[in-house]
Amino acid sequence: MTAHTDLSTKSSETLFQEMSMMAVKDRTPTLVELVSRAHTPPAEVELLSTCGKPIRGRTASGRERKGLSRCGSTSCFRCQVLAGKQAGTRSWSLLLAAMNGIPDRRLMSAVTINAEDRDLHRFKRAVRRFMRKHSLKYTGEYSVSLAGLLHVHVAVLHGDMGGLMLRRLLQDQFGKYPVINVKPLPVTRKVGGVVKMVTIEEAVRGWIQYAHVPLKNKDFKNHPEVRNPEGLAQFIEWDSAVLGDRRCEGGFTLEEKASAGRMRKRNTTNRRNGADNTKRQDAIRESLRKFKLRSALNGAPIRSGKDSVESRIQLGSPHLDADQLDRSSQWR
Ligand SMILES: [Zn+2]
Repeated sequence: MTAHTDLSTKSSETLFQEMSMMAVKDRTPTLVELVSRAHTPPAEVELLSTCGKPIRGRTASGRERKGLSRCGSTSCFRCQVLAGKQAGTRSWSLLLAAMNGIPDRRLMSAVTINAEDRDLHRFKRAVRRFMRKHSLKYTGEYSVSLAGLLHVHVAVLHGDMGGLMLRRLLQDQFGKYPVINVKPLPVTRKVGGVVKMVTIEEAVRGWIQYAHVPLKNKDFKNHPEVRNPEGLAQFIEWDSAVLGDRRCEGGFTLEEKASAGRMRKRNTTNRRNGADNTKRQDAIRESLRKFKLRSALNGAPIRSGKDSVESRIQLGSPHLDADQLDRSSQWR
């Protein structure tokens, strides 16, 4: 717990090291300390240091009780954890509505596009124009890279077009990797060295939330330019220079948006009214989903290979080995 230790006595090197090991939400005080050591602290630091103030005393275990003030800054770890979760919920509800409640991994891809210059307006317009031209449904967020350039993390629903085709079209428009990166949503994730299966929902949420982590652990390892207070101050300055909405979203019909809105509202209402009902409703919804899926599959004979594996993943069959999972992630 670094919450009430005196950070000013620690060396920058130690702080960087601690920061890369901390949980995301605990990093803000360290970030503020590091950036304020730079010779020209940007106004953003002042804003950052108001977050979670004033301290409302201590808990029984000696932990600080944070104040309710929130800075809302995109460089603030405390604020971005919540913002990321909300963005993940929004994106997932939209995608689910667009897939008529039956999620299918092969219909979407995780896409990153990097801007090549600092003209923010032109980049946003180019992204929007590309998506509209190919009638894609997309939802995600813009963020700022360590070089101060805008980039976008979106989940793109490409349907029958397929991920490989989408990659080709994006390459023609924006350039090859690393300018663009198109990947299938992950099927597994390593948690503490153990391979764990992730549902489509977790994969989408994870992808969107990732855009909300201002500095990733690998940034500290790979980018020497942020490993000093001046570098961090520069990043925050660039980050705060981006104006306007960070949301990158489009292609959804009014009906889908309304349905997604209802979905989100229902979930918050359920949470407010207690979890008893929610569990039961979730079970009903799950069996309904399986029923829909079964009737959808009954029409067509189940082919061997990825189709059948995918459907078994949907139904939550426990009999899956890693090899089958790999194949199931082959989006075309
Ligand atoms: Zn904040």
